[in-house]
Amino acid sequence: MRSSVITVPAFASSQDGVRHFFGTRAHADSLALDVGVPVPATGSGGRGWLLSVKQVHGTDALVVDRPLTEVDRFDGGWDALVTDQPGVTVAVRTADCVPVLVYDRRRRAVAAIHAGWRGAVAGIVPKTIELMMARFQLIEADLRISIGPSAGPCCYEVDEPVLTPLRQELPDWQSVIQHERGATARLDLKKLVRRQVEQFGIAADQVTSVNLCTICHDDLFYSYRREGRVNGTMVSGITLVPRG
Ligand SMILES: [Zn+2]
Repeated sequence: MRSSVITVPAFASSQDGVRHFFGTRAHADSLALDVGVPVPATGSGGRGWLLSVKQVHGTDALVVDRPLTEVDRFDGGWDALVTDQPGVTVAVRTADCVPVLVYDRRRRAVAAIHAGWRGAVAGIVPKTIELMMARFQLIEADLRISIGPSAGPCCYEVDEPVLTPLRQELPDWQSVIQHERGATARLDLKKLVRRQVEQFGIAADQVTSVNLCTICHDDLFYSYRREGRVNGTMVSGITLVPRG
């Protein structure tokens, strides 16, 4: 199962005390996920949990700050999951949206964020980082952020329903679109997230990206845009490795 995921060594290695993965379609097909319910998972450090929840294209985060049990149920909708609990893999599901993983190795907290254009324009990534900093007393300099595979500017054409809020919410919206032609343009979601994170005060060298487009790579990824319907979603997650 692990062989079919993408990891980013420049983002986190085993010395950082976290494990992470960006999923592929093969990985998604091999995974038994129960949305809103912790699923037992094994890994280094023994038993743990894999948790994903219903996503609603909003900006709210679920904070898991106590150990999970098999009777836990999370029935609401959240597009970010934050935890300081070792062994809990917080995961998001994406097809063309951007999975964003965050951690602080010193204060030990992680987050998985689902950022589609709606959530990204509404600032879900900086909002989640702000919440993590307040809740767990993190500082900017200790954060590491990785932006995963998503629809790329090579393929992701958008029109007025996306461009209008983008122009309203982002002063430098022109820097994240390409090939503007009449009422359409191609949106660079990964760059949008990166700019927001850097504007928040995170240094560029603390942010890594996986520059793969989910629409281009049908062998690797599901794509809502390419396939015209939801055939499946990739699962991406991050875990604080329990200290032995
Ligand atoms: Zn593409």
